[in-house]
Amino acid sequence: MATIFSRIIAGEIPSYKIAEDDRFFAFLDINPMAKGHALVVPKQEIDYIFDLDDSLLAGMALFAKKVAAAIQAVIPCSRVGMMVIGLEVPHAHIHLIPIQKEGDMSLANPRIRLSKEEFAEIAEKISSRIN
Ligand code: 5GP
Repeated sequence: MATIFSRIIAGEIPSYKIAEDDRFFAFLDINPMAKGHALVVPKQEIDYIFDLDDSLLAGMALFAKKVAAAIQAVIPCSRVGMMVIGLEVPHAHIHLIPIQKEGDMSLANPRIRLSKEEFAEIAEKISSRIN
């Protein structure tokens, strides 16, 4: 059965899309740790990130780099943190999280709530910064 992320990539489930190319897809996390929290996923459905072949893994990092720069241009933050967990959804993904301090990356932090309009506006602004 397709993962929820494959269904998002296929457009079967809506998402606040930021960017895509032939191999990768980026969209806002629906349960964000901060405004602009995004996920980068390979279109190829592979569970564990370190099972990606070298070229795909390197390409994913470079795609994430572009998305992170766009996030940083839109969301006031000192850095965009990068995190991989992958215990919830069995489809490799990189979290990109705007942070001001180390503690902002803590999984113990409560997630924030955003309206549909806020999600859409953030995605649109970040998306417009991707070249
Ligand atoms: P992880 O697998 O890295 O522990 O966490 C999966 C992440 O995917 C979580 O931050 C969760 O909020 C996000 N997520 C799970 N399901 C969906 C979904 O249907 N849409 C979006 N945009 N994000 C999701």
